[in-house]
Amino acid sequence: MPTAHTHDLPTVLQQLRDGQPTLWLNPALDRESQPLGPCAAMLDAEQRLARFAPLLAQLFPALSASNGLIESALRPAPALTQALLGDKTHAAPLLLKCDHELPVAGSVKARGGIHEVLCVAEQLAQEAGLLPADLDPTQISSADYLRLAEPQAQQHFRRYRIAVGSTGNLGLSIGIMAARLGFKVSVHMSRDARAWKKQCLRDAGADVIEHSGDYAAAVAEGRRQTEADPFGYFVDDENSQRLFYGYSVAALRLQQQLLQAKITVDDDHPLFVYLPCGVGGAPGGIAYGLKQLFGNNVHCFFAEPLQAPCMLYALASGQVASVGELGLNIDTAADGLAVGRASEPVADMMRERLSGIFTVHDDDLFRWVAQLNQREGINVEPSATAGFAGPALLSASESGRAYLRQQGLETKFAQARHILWTTGGSLVPEKEHARYVARGQQLITNHSLEA
Ligand SMILES: *Cc1c(COP(=O)(O)O)cnc(C)c1O
Repeated sequence: MPTAHTHDLPTVLQQLRDGQPTLWLNPALDRESQPLGPCAAMLDAEQRLARFAPLLAQLFPALSASNGLIESALRPAPALTQALLGDKTHAAPLLLKCDHELPVAGSVKARGGIHEVLCVAEQLAQEAGLLPADLDPTQISSADYLRLAEPQAQQHFRRYRIAVGSTGNLGLSIGIMAARLGFKVSVHMSRDARAWKKQCLRDAGADVIEHSGDYAAAVAEGRRQTEADPFGYFVDDENSQRLFYGYSVAALRLQQQLLQAKITVDDDHPLFVYLPCGVGGAPGGIAYGLKQLFGNNVHCFFAEPLQAPCMLYALASGQVASVGELGLNIDTAADGLAVGRASEPVADMMRERLSGIFTVHDDDLFRWVAQLNQREGINVEPSATAGFAGPALLSASESGRAYLRQQGLETKFAQARHILWTTGGSLVPEKEHARYVARGQQLITNHSLEA
C-alpha cells in the first residue's frame, strides 16, 4: 500500500523526485461540470469508424464477427477485486474495460490510431475520385468504401507514406492499419520499444527506424524526416486532434455497455475510471469523452510510472516540461507509458476535467500482471495495470479520503463503480508474458516472506 498525501506543490515535486508513490488531487477540477453530450468531433469520429466498418471487416478477419467494429468488453473481475481490496471489498466487483483485447492493434491505441489513418485514407480517396469527391463524407455510403480494398486504391495509397513516432503500441495501431490499406509506413521507435513490437511491425510491412534516444527524440526525428517528404504524412502523437477524438469514441461505447449491464451512473452512483497515461492522448480522449457524457458523476484518474510522471508534473506545476528536470530518467518497464513530456493540448484539456493522478512502482505493475493472470485468466502488458492502485488509494489513503470528502461522496462511495482500463497486451508473445507473470509472482512471494 503506497503512502499518499496531498500537499503543496514543493512537497509534490519532492515526492516525484524521490520516486515516492503519490496520489495528487487536481485543485483545478471543475466540480460543477455538467453532462453536455458528445461534441461534434466525437460524433464525427464515431461516424467515420462506422462508415469504414464494412471495409475493415473485409480487410481483417478478426473484425468479421463484429462487422468491422473495433471494440472491447466491459467485464466484472470479482477474483481480482478480492486480491486488490481484500476484506475492504466493495459491494460490487471492480470492472475491467478490456482494451488489451481490442482487435487488430491489441491496445487502447486502436481507436485513435486507426481513426487517424482512416481520416487520411478518406481524404486522399476523395481527392483521387476513389470516393465521390463532391459529397460530404457523411453522405457517402459504407458500400462505396469497399472500393478502397481494390488494387486501384491500394496502388494509389502506395504513393504515400504514413509515419509516426512511438514507444510501440501507437506504431502497431497506425502501422498495421496503414500497411493493410496499401500505404508505405515508417515507425520511429524509441529505445524503450520492445523487440517483439518491432518485429510485429516489420511482419506487417512497416519500416521500423530505431532511435537511440527516448520517445521525444523518436517523435522529433520522425517529424523532421516526414516533413521533407511531399508524399509523407506524420501522425503527431503530441498534438493530433484526429487521435484524440478517435480515442474519445470509447466513451460513447462505454456508455452503451453500462446501459446494457444495467449499471447506473448518476448523482447517487458515481463512476471512477482509472487510466494509464503516457503522453496523455489516449487516456485524455477517453476522459474528455466521459466528462462530456457524465459530467461530475464520473471521476477520472490517470496512473503513471514513478520514473515518468509527465502529466502529473505538467498539471501540478502548470507547465508542460520534461520530467528530466526532476532528475527522473524515464526508465520503466511500462514501455507504453515511458514518456518524459506530456502533450500540451491534452494537458490543457485535462486541466479542469481530471480528478487526479497517481504514480506507481514498476514492481507493482508486475505483481498485478501476475494477479490478473492467475485470478482472472487475463493477460496484459505491465503498462496496462498501472491503474490498479486506484480503488485502494481512493478508499483507504489520506488523499483518497480527502477527495471523497471534497466531492461530498463519502456516503455514496459504497454505491460507486470502478473501472480499471486495461490498455494493452493481447499481442504480447506468450513467452514474453510468461516472464512478466514469473517476475510478478516472484515479487508477490518475496513480499509475503518479508511480511
Ligand atoms: C500508449 C499507451 C497508454 C497511454 O496512452 P498515451 O496516449 O500515450 O497517454 C497506456 N497503455 C498502453 C498499453 C499504451 O500503449
